[in-house]
Amino acid sequence: MNLLVLGPQGAGKGTQAKRIALEYGIPHVSTGDMFRAAQAEGTDFGKQVGAIMESGKLVPDELTIAMIADRLSQPDAQAGFVLDGFPRNLAQAEALDAMLSRIGRGLDAILFFNIPDEVGMERALKRAELEGRADDTPEVIAKRLEIYHSETEPIIEHYRATGKLVPLHADRTVDEVWSELSDSLQVVA
Ligand code: ADP
Repeated sequence: MNLLVLGPQGAGKGTQAKRIALEYGIPHVSTGDMFRAAQAEGTDFGKQVGAIMESGKLVPDELTIAMIADRLSQPDAQAGFVLDGFPRNLAQAEALDAMLSRIGRGLDAILFFNIPDEVGMERALKRAELEGRADDTPEVIAKRLEIYHSETEPIIEHYRATGKLVPLHADRTVDEVWSELSDSLQVVA
């Protein structure tokens, strides 16, 4: 099963994506987690993306697309994957379409986490207290949200056109969102 989670900061994508990965035995492929892991390793690449993340901007498409192409070609992703944090703009969405069609695969569902900005912002700030992520300051979250609206939101229409967009009420408890999500996966799985 090839899935994608889409939505603004603090919408709960990561939490639900991890649960999907566990239930369906497919890898949770999170660009944010991959970039943070690179940053923690302290390589040149890691230092470069670390600085970009801390500013709230997007890592260049070329690097991000190459990283995802490599990740999706790994053996554990052959039975499926749940992509989180990618694509984040139209160029990345088109690169993903091309990547998948080259290998004769497609997305089964695009899970869209619908939530008001204020609620997401509040959650992201709470996460900052718990996890101490360097890019979860109010200023950086605001910057990420701004980029979400200008660059990422337009791809919702791209995916709506495929007929595979599944809108979810993300402004609910983790279990409530899971229940709505897993019901919808029963249909596509
Ligand atoms: P959130 O969804 O809470 O904003 P993520 O953990 O998904 O945070 O991403 C953290 C940072 O990693 C982003 O602000 C950005 O700098 C970088 N990043 C993640 N995914 C992408 C992507 N697809 N393209 C470019 N940069 C990305």
